[in-house]
Parts: sequence; structure tokens; C-alpha cells
Amino acid sequence: MEGLIDCVTDDAQAALGDDFVRVGSGSSREMRQPGSYALLIRLNEPQLVRFGKKQGHLAAGWYAYCGSAKGPGGVGARIARHLSATKKPHWHVDRLTLAASKIEALAAADACECEIAACLNASGSFEHILPGFGSSDCRSCSSHLLAWRG
Ligand SMILES: [Zn+2]
Repeated sequence: MEGLIDCVTDDAQAALGDDFVRVGSGSSREMRQPGSYALLIRLNEPQLVRFGKKQGHLAAGWYAYCGSAKGPGGVGARIARHLSATKKPHWHVDRLTLAASKIEALAAADACECEIAACLNASGSFEHILPGFGSSDCRSCSSHLLAWRG
């Protein structure tokens, strides 16, 4: 399953278009402007996630989390934080990134996480699986976490 990283990244890239660039631990700090991103998260083990008053089970597999960063350091700093294995959990997605065996990111300067979620969902390669996850302050999306259909 680890080898599928190119497949899931290609599917996300196709859904999001060429404005999005693949950023990893080496290059992510270079994107200092505000922006949005899709984190591609590989879970080797099923995870129980709690968010708000809800909880849900995620099977092993690939997931896409859609987020945005407007603060200092821009989207690069945010992605670097997501990739860090030593961060203190703050957001719900931190539980997933800390459990992940692989994380890849696609980011763009002029984008909104809701557009990313909509594009991934519309592509047919990803689907919403936990209504409300990551989108508690969003009125337009079912969630900001989608599962890769592989
Ligand atoms: Zn949204």
C-alpha cells in the first residue's frame, strides 16, 4: 500500500490542477505566502477519531485533509507543522498525522480549503466519510476530510 503514494498524489493533482504543487518536508518552508493545501495521509492501522461530540472509525488507507493557513510563515510553515512528529496535538487532524506512516501535501497560494474539498469530491477519486470532521466552522462542506477510493 505504501507504493500507492504516487497513485493517490496523481489523483489529487488531477483533481486540483497544476496550480497545486507537491511539497514535502524539504521544500514546504519555501511557500511562505498564505494558501491552502490538501494533506494526503496514509494510515497503516485503523483509527478511532473524536471530533466535537462525535466519533468515527477510519479504516487503514489514504485520506485527504483540506486546510488553509493565513498566519506567519504561510502555508509552508503549516505543512511543516503537519509533518512534524513531535508536535502537541491541537487540531483533530493532528491525531491522524501523528498516526500516519506517510504524509504528502499539495498546496497553492490562491485557494480555499472548501474548493479543495469540492474538487476532490467531484473527481470521484475521493469521498467524504466523516460528516463534520475538520469543518465545524464551515457551512458549505460535508467535511474537510475525504477518503481515497483507490
Ligand atoms: Zn469547507
